[in-house]
Amino acid sequence: MTDEPLGAGMEEPANRNGAFPRLDDDQLARLRAAGRVRAVEPGEVLFREGEAGYDFFAVESGAIAIVQGYGRENHVVAVHGPHRFLGEIGLLKGEAAYVTAVVRDAGEIVQVAPGRMKELFIAYEALSNLVLQAYLARRSILIELEVGEKLIGSRYSRDARRLRQFLDRNRRPYHWMDLEEDEDAEALLRALAIEPADTPVVIVRDQVLRNPSTAEVASALGVGARGAPPAMCDLVIVGGGPAGLAAALYGASEGLDTQAIDAVAFGGQAGTSMSIQNYLGFPTGIPGSELADRAAIQARRLGARLVVPAEAVGLARDDGHYAIQLAGGEVVNGRTVIVATGAQYRKLDVPELERYEGVGVYYAATQAEAQMCAGDPVMIVGGGNSAGQAAMFLSQHAVSCRLAIRGDDLGRSMSRYLIDEIERPQQIEVLTYAEVVGLKGDDTLEAAVIRDPRSGECRELEARAMFVFIGASPHTDWLRGQVAMDDHCFLRTGRDVPDEDLAAYGLERPLFLETSRPGVFAVGDVHSGSVKRVASAVGEGSMAVRLVHERLAVR
Ligand SMILES: Cc1cc2nc3c(=O)[nH]c(=O)nc-3n(C[C@H](O)[C@H](O)[C@H](O)COP(=O)(O)OP(=O)(O)OC[C@H]3O[C@@H](n4cnc5c(N)ncnc54)[C@H](O)[C@@H]3O)c2cc1C
Repeated sequence: MTDEPLGAGMEEPANRNGAFPRLDDDQLARLRAAGRVRAVEPGEVLFREGEAGYDFFAVESGAIAIVQGYGRENHVVAVHGPHRFLGEIGLLKGEAAYVTAVVRDAGEIVQVAPGRMKELFIAYEALSNLVLQAYLARRSILIELEVGEKLIGSRYSRDARRLRQFLDRNRRPYHWMDLEEDEDAEALLRALAIEPADTPVVIVRDQVLRNPSTAEVASALGVGARGAPPAMCDLVIVGGGPAGLAAALYGASEGLDTQAIDAVAFGGQAGTSMSIQNYLGFPTGIPGSELADRAAIQARRLGARLVVPAEAVGLARDDGHYAIQLAGGEVVNGRTVIVATGAQYRKLDVPELERYEGVGVYYAATQAEAQMCAGDPVMIVGGGNSAGQAAMFLSQHAVSCRLAIRGDDLGRSMSRYLIDEIERPQQIEVLTYAEVVGLKGDDTLEAAVIRDPRSGECRELEARAMFVFIGASPHTDWLRGQVAMDDHCFLRTGRDVPDEDLAAYGLERPLFLETSRPGVFAVGDVHSGSVKRVASAVGEGSMAVRLVHERLAVR
């Protein structure tokens, strides 16, 4: 044992992507006025791993070490000196800290309570922009460094995939240990006396969770902290993609008691997009995850309660209001409801598809899938923008990348900017008149059988991963029999609600975006005839709130 303080001799990290800026004198003066200045001594802990709602700290003098596994592995992630500040995006999202801040060199710090910090952010935009940008960039760095909880499992396990999806979509930094190829994973399991059959295992600080439910992991991590909902909300929003987040933000900011729930993570499909290029105001594009984080923070700041994981499994009319049943057995009551549960991509009609789902066939192309197929030949199926974006992204990781479309013209359904990129030499091979009719491989996907619909000829092409983007089907199973739907189970709204459905419920003509149930609105990808764009989802989310006011006023 040595008496050297943690992080001794370590340099401060560079200010990469604005992650570690220094506060100027004016900013520090305002922080001092909002909080208190105090002396600190080496070894003092400012906030601890697992602590929620910790204070904001800025360093006047001295140095602070940021430590992962404090008291255990004592891994120093960074050291911050004068005029830098501590924390990361979880502080603004109300999540628990997953690192510990320990004083390395004696000095003075400015400490500001969360409530005072919120007021300061509202009053002083330059400071809030600086902190938000830094916090978003820090989260990306921490994800890269895999700081945080450990997840041990097999890449072929569906439960491991479920947990990875939850952690990825919530942008949690974590260390994935693949039993198939990481010797340390097995050694760690042996040390913990855990059989591989009990995996996946999540290790959060000193807690070991064996094949936990998503809700158990969320609670151990302090993600999406719920608290009991009030007996009755003015507005319950089901689904937290762009449409649901916009509705939450406008609902709360217009004085409605608003609760939004999501089965997995706020951000929805948009949150899984590597870069959204066509959203107004972001000329160089914005990562979907950043858009989601910014929107969720904004909605919370304006008073919305955002709860994950909370999957709606039923809707019932109950004495003038709606009761939404959740998978965990709880019920959330609302005078009005906005359904924003989006859609998911359609599946291929090929034998044994399920055998390969999650172990070779995927419906999203995020960092997790990219890692999994690094160096492998991949195939993307579909001719829309999502397929195009996935092809662009995956071609940077895979050894070869093919895009299979049924016709001969990408221009029918893909934006020009994507086609130009895809057609650049050596990027991506476009297979025209290509229908996937079979999948091959023992345990995992090895090849796809492609048929030319003109000649009926089939050929086998190597593919270790296949990404399917061939249209969407809506998340509306939980509403069956409750609201009018079209033939593909998208929700009918406004003038599209057929008269017979209105007669069945004895209703007047619904408002724009209102379903066949008065006070239940549908926005974004889930409603029939939607545009399937981030911008339209956001627009509808905000419009629906105005209509909610109208419904509440006539009651
Ligand atoms: C990879 C990819 C790239 C894309 N790129 C672009 C782009 O560049 N530009 C663009 O304009 N559009 C893009 N899109 C499309 C865009 O993301 C969608 O149109 C948009 O996200 C739709 O928003 P939404 O809020 O209606 O639904 P979604 O984003 O689908 O969100 C629905 C949410 O509801 C939740 N949910 C579902 N069922 C339940 C339930 N029962 N209970 C609780 N929660 C539930 C889901 O977990 C999800 O978070 C892209 C889509 C993908 C997949």
